[in-house]
Amino acid sequence: MTTATGQNPAALADGLNAIDAHRLRRDFPILNQEINGQPLVYLDSAATTQKPQVVIDAIVDYYTRNNANVHRGVHTLSQRATDDYERAREAVRRFINAPESCEVIYVRGTTEGLNLVASSYGRKYFKPGDEVIVTGMEHHSNIVPWQILGKEIGVKLRVVPFNDDGELLLDQFESMLGDRTRMVSVVHQSNALGTVNPVKTMASLAHARGVPVMLDAAQSIPHMPIDVQDLGADFVAFSGHKMYGPTGIGVLWGRAELLDAMPPYQSGGEMIRSVTFEETIYNDLPAKFEAGTPDIAGAIGLGAAVEYLEAIGMARIARYEHALMRYGAERLGSIAGVRLVGTAANKGGVLSFIMDAAHAHDIGTILDAAGIAVRTGHHCAQPVMARYEISATARASLGLYNTTDDIDALVKAIDRVIEVFG
Ligand code: PLP
Repeated sequence: MTTATGQNPAALADGLNAIDAHRLRRDFPILNQEINGQPLVYLDSAATTQKPQVVIDAIVDYYTRNNANVHRGVHTLSQRATDDYERAREAVRRFINAPESCEVIYVRGTTEGLNLVASSYGRKYFKPGDEVIVTGMEHHSNIVPWQILGKEIGVKLRVVPFNDDGELLLDQFESMLGDRTRMVSVVHQSNALGTVNPVKTMASLAHARGVPVMLDAAQSIPHMPIDVQDLGADFVAFSGHKMYGPTGIGVLWGRAELLDAMPPYQSGGEMIRSVTFEETIYNDLPAKFEAGTPDIAGAIGLGAAVEYLEAIGMARIARYEHALMRYGAERLGSIAGVRLVGTAANKGGVLSFIMDAAHAHDIGTILDAAGIAVRTGHHCAQPVMARYEISATARASLGLYNTTDDIDALVKAIDRVIEVFG
C-alpha cells in the first residue's frame, strides 16, 4: 500500500524509528525554551544546526582547563591543547574516511574551503580560456570565488542546468566536459532545494577526462555518511556549524598529492618551516594551509560533534531524516495554495515552499509568532530563484532533533498564514 504521494507507510514508520529524536533533542539545551510564548520549533538547520551539550562542554572545558596556543609550547597546557586539536583532526579524518589526517585542513568553513581551492589551485593551474563546471543550484560561495578568478585569469564558468523537480541534467553535464575543463565544482546537497546530486557518477565522468572534482558538502555532511574515497572527490569542503559543531571552523579535505603541489593560500606563522629575508621554506601538510593561530576551541568542538554523530550513526540519521522529510513533503504538499520548490526523487531534509496567499517573509513572520524558526529569502542561491522565476521561498530544514510534532506544528501555523492572508 502507498499513500497519495507514493509513500509506503511501513517504510515510513521504519524510517521514523531509526533514531529516537525525542530523546536526542534533550541533548540540545537551546531547544528547551519558548519563543513568543510557544515551545520553540527549530526548522532552520540548513542555516546552522543547534549544538549538543557535549559540544558546548568541550569548548568550555578547553577554555577552562587547557587554553594555550598549539604546536608552539613545551609546557603542559600547550601540549594538552595540541593533543586535543590534533585528536579532533583525526576524528574528522575517520568520519570522512580520508586516507591521511594531514589532508584534513582546518578552515573557517565551506566558504573558505572553496576560496582556498579556487585561489591556490586555480591560480596555479588555470589558463585563459579554461572552464570550470558548476551546477545551476550552487550556493553563492561556489560561484563567486570561481567568477573572481575567471575575471582575473579569463576562466569561463559552465553551468549544468536542472529540471523543474530540481534534478541535474546529467547528459548536459557530460557534454560540457571537454578539453578546456579544468575543474568540476558541485554542491552535494542543495541548500535551497534539498536535491542530492549524483556526485559519484559526476566524479567518475570527470575523472575519465582527467578533470579534478571539488564537492561542496556543507549540506550533506550532517545528514548522510560521507566517504571521500568512495565518492571519488579530490577536494571536499564543509562547515562545523552545520554539523552540530561550532561556528568559525570547517574543513577542507584534499588529496595529499594535489595539496602538496599547491601554493599556500595565506601566509605567516605556522605555515613555514624556515624564514630568512631571502627565502621562506613552507611547512608540510596540513600546516602549509593553516597560517596563524587557528580556531583551537572550534576544532575541539568540531571533534566533539563528530564523535556525537558517530555514536548515533550517520546511516541511521539519514534514514530518519529521509522519512521525516517525506512525511513533511506529504503534509505540506497536501495544503491547497502551498507549492513545494524542489521535488527531486533523491532529496534531503529541506522543504522549500511558496504560497499563493503570502510572500515568504510574511510566512516567516507568522511562523515566528508561533515559535517556529524557518528561513525565508533566496538562501544565497539567487540563480535557483531565477530558475523558478521567484524571488524567495520559505524553507523548513531538518536536523536529527526534529520530529513529526515539529512538522505538525508547521502545518498548523501555515493554516494560520492562510487565515491571515488568504
Ligand atoms: N554551500 C552550501 C550548500 C551552503 O548551504 C552553505 C551555507 O549555507 C555554504 C556553502 C556556505 O557555508 P558557510 O557559510 O558555513 O561557509
